[in-house]
Amino acid sequence: EKMKELVGDNENVEVKFEGHVPHPEVKKSGCHGFCEMGPLMRIEPLNILYVKVQLEDCEEIYNETIKNRNVIDRLVYKQNGQSYVSQESIPFYEKQTRIVLKNCGHIDAEHIEEYIAVGGYEGLEKVLFDMTKEEGLDEILKSGLRGRGGAGFPTGKKWAEVAKQPVTERYVVCNGDEGDPGAFMDRSIMEGDPHKMIEGMIIGAYLVGAQNGYIYVRAEYPLAVERLKIAIAQAEDRGLLGDNILGSGFNFRLHINRGAGAFVCGEGSALTASIEGNRGMPRVKPPRSAEKGLFGKPTVLNNVETYANVPMIIANGSDWYRGFGTEGSPGTKAFALTGSVNNTGLIEVPMGTTLREIVYDIGGGVKDDVPFKAVQIGGPSGGCLVEKHLDLPLDFDSVKKLNAIMGSGGLVVMDENSCMVDVARFFMSFTQRESCGKCTPCRIGTKRMLEMLDKITEGKGTLEDLDKLEETAKTVRTMSLCGLGKSAPLPVISTLELFRHEYEEHIVDGK
Ligand code: SF4
Repeated sequence: EKMKELVGDNENVEVKFEGHVPHPEVKKSGCHGFCEMGPLMRIEPLNILYVKVQLEDCEEIYNETIKNRNVIDRLVYKQNGQSYVSQESIPFYEKQTRIVLKNCGHIDAEHIEEYIAVGGYEGLEKVLFDMTKEEGLDEILKSGLRGRGGAGFPTGKKWAEVAKQPVTERYVVCNGDEGDPGAFMDRSIMEGDPHKMIEGMIIGAYLVGAQNGYIYVRAEYPLAVERLKIAIAQAEDRGLLGDNILGSGFNFRLHINRGAGAFVCGEGSALTASIEGNRGMPRVKPPRSAEKGLFGKPTVLNNVETYANVPMIIANGSDWYRGFGTEGSPGTKAFALTGSVNNTGLIEVPMGTTLREIVYDIGGGVKDDVPFKAVQIGGPSGGCLVEKHLDLPLDFDSVKKLNAIMGSGGLVVMDENSCMVDVARFFMSFTQRESCGKCTPCRIGTKRMLEMLDKITEGKGTLEDLDKLEETAKTVRTMSLCGLGKSAPLPVISTLELFRHEYEEHIVDGK
């Protein structure tokens, strides 16, 4: 606001930029992802990024940089004594490959023109006029895109399944519930580049023959809801949504549903139940959503990041997409990098990037040079990766083999001072609270597990409790009805496997 006030509409300001710039403008963009260094200010076309900008810096930025093109050294990012003036040269960004987050922080999310100016809606145009539906579906299948919500199911297979259903009333649904503590990838896309996922949903709807779509966003994301509403209205005004899209004869309407913050509503059948106005509880499967999903009709259900990949796959082709990532997990993955790491933030890397590259090259290493201990991947449904896994290329399959899951992309770095029993207890208290109570193994099992973890962390546990904890964890994992219960014991299973001695220390020392 202060910068806007300084710049104003004053066309007489002499700006010494090369090329023609009528007068300086101030725009609010989505998140750049470099949380540790915010608030950020990017000055174009000078390609300068200022970090940790304060209100009192505005006047100097206006006078020195905007008017006279001088770089203010104290606002430039520094690492190991080196200054980085441009955003792209900063190691945090340099090592990333941004496809889904490409526009975040670079365009004004509230103006559709900015998205169109960077190639937005070209994928939709191509699929509507230059391809058959079969070719479009085939392109998604060949790209190898897998659902970014956690399970990693092939998106093309899911879409093809819905497209071949005999029932013609069909839906596409976007899961923007993002309930994992510490995860904010989807939020950033919805706030910073909402048209990208909307375009992905329109393409999906066209390919599977859906007439209506729902975006399920958690109510704790008011800015995302606001920007999605603006984006939908602008897309409708431009003929990109609604009746007869771009004159193609295809009709599609998009609706927003706000979730009330229940973690279990991130599960597909609970999410569709919630949209229908029922209590958000998972149901027994089959039938799967592809056959009987929302309102009992064939439904494509994917998360925000998955849809955001689609426009570029269609626009650039599946071969282009397969140029990133690994054979079994093509493309990139956005992660929320948090915890004891120097550069916390939102990152996007090709699948197959190692944990070492993420923590040390992008994250700048562990805070205060304390030795690295572990990374919790996949939030409360995930598990731990430790030092011996630092050089493991991360993708859906490699992580699964280690009793963890990629999840939606939470990465919490822990240093030597972290107590892994406390970590397991923290996640168990979360999932126990969020258990919907429908099935006994999860409802009772998570409660018993939390009680045992409480006892152990209070120094009142016994070795027998440890065995019981392990046994209960296995029961909950195998017997629970939905993904929440099945994955809730993973942090305990994984920490017991890798850090059993820490559990035993709590018991032996009575700490
Ligand atoms: Fe509900 Fe847990 Fe059973 Fe899922 S596993 S249905 S969250 S009680």
